[in-house]
Amino acid sequence: MRSHLLNDATAEQYRRSVNDGVERVARRLSTTTRPFTGVTPDDLAPAVAAVDLDQPLGDASAALDELEGLYLDDAVYFHHPRYLAHLNCPVVIPAVVGEAVLSAVNSSLDTWDQSAGGTLIERRLIDWTNGRIGFGESADGVFTSGGSQSNLQALLLAREEAKTADLAKLRIFSSECSHFSVQKSAKLLGLGADAVVAIPSDRDKRMQTVILAAELERCAAQGLVPMAVVATAGTTDFGSIDPLPQIAELAARHGAWFHVDAAYGCGLLASPTRRHLLDGIERADSVTVDYHKSFFQPVSSSALLVRDGATLRHATYHADYLNPRRTVEERIPNQVDKSLQTTRRFDALKLWMTLRVMGAQGVGELFDEVCDLAAEGWKLIAADPRYDVVVEPTLSTLVFRYIPASVTSPAAIDRANLYARKALFASGEAVVAGTKVGSRQYLKFTLLNPETTVADMAAVLDLIAGHAEQYLGETLVHAS
Ligand SMILES: *Cc1c(COP(=O)(O)O)cnc(C)c1O
Repeated sequence: MRSHLLNDATAEQYRRSVNDGVERVARRLSTTTRPFTGVTPDDLAPAVAAVDLDQPLGDASAALDELEGLYLDDAVYFHHPRYLAHLNCPVVIPAVVGEAVLSAVNSSLDTWDQSAGGTLIERRLIDWTNGRIGFGESADGVFTSGGSQSNLQALLLAREEAKTADLAKLRIFSSECSHFSVQKSAKLLGLGADAVVAIPSDRDKRMQTVILAAELERCAAQGLVPMAVVATAGTTDFGSIDPLPQIAELAARHGAWFHVDAAYGCGLLASPTRRHLLDGIERADSVTVDYHKSFFQPVSSSALLVRDGATLRHATYHADYLNPRRTVEERIPNQVDKSLQTTRRFDALKLWMTLRVMGAQGVGELFDEVCDLAAEGWKLIAADPRYDVVVEPTLSTLVFRYIPASVTSPAAIDRANLYARKALFASGEAVVAGTKVGSRQYLKFTLLNPETTVADMAAVLDLIAGHAEQYLGETLVHAS
């Protein structure tokens, strides 16, 4: 069994095995004709269940053969131009090279004595991101597992900096379009069930700052404490960016922590043409970025950035076995002092490789391309009488629904759109997302693939209309 350990004696087997895996993925990528095969859980579950995990196959090649049937053949492929569903990006090759390196070396970024140069590379990328945000010298941050964790840590810092320790009194203000991790975080942080105040959005799905101002006043008048105001820079559904300067002003006036959730919109930090859309972000106390969304990085790659690095002390604990107090005096850079995680992947290497190969402008141009594509797509759908489209895009999502030519009930239209999404997924021809606007069922394109074309979008719209029409036709037959 020692022959499976990666070491000096097995370097050749390592090379062969990894190449074997790479070869199969490469073959799959070059032969996929659809983003999905339409496989169902019932189709796949018996094969996965039938694997006897106590009967090993002995070599990677055999295990990869088996894996093709269990996973690779039927995976959902984000690189396909007709994968238009969630905030998943096609990944850039330099980052995948980084991924292969980081998992083989297997550094852990909690302490210097488990990572050495890895810690310095992560720190440079945190500084680089802070520079792009416009933070000053005292800024800091740490890589995290994702936007949800970044938001949790930001709100932990906000809670610790709040003017009361009475958790029942704390309130968080975020738009009704903000990410659900804000609510989850409030729960994890022990706040009350009504701690998160949802501020209505305007027609463009941006937080209404007049209402935010009124709610902050009301909070004060009731003797409650505004713990944090969360602005979203790129809402998950609409890509809308809350008015950051006005929100910064209101948060400052009320002494609330100002957090900007830029999990999606962070790609603008590298954009050669659209950086101004984030103006005001430099006034935040903390910022969430998901490089695994708009920087074309493999999952996971995310960070929490803070304007005042000293606030990260709220995540600092010392353990004799890991990061004893004296290591601070000895100025040993232990990233665990800033993190909610202990053992932690060297995800930063993927972004490092990306910037060293492509440069920030290269990444930003890719994100610009998908934003341009969304603008084209909006025109396409707006001109199509079969569809209703909401909100001209700021980033790269389009929310729309099929509306039949003949009059039918709103509930039937909802069902037709739901059916069309499911039927499309089952066909594997394309994958789109669904969401609600008001109480109505909508569909969504999330565009993160510069290889997607207007023609792809037009073709998918035809497919959706076909499925919806078929559904409405059939239900009419049944009704009559
Ligand atoms: C995706 C997203 C998150 C959560 O990020 P994960 O990496 O999925 O945990 C948070 N906020 C916004 C606005 C997002 O779009």
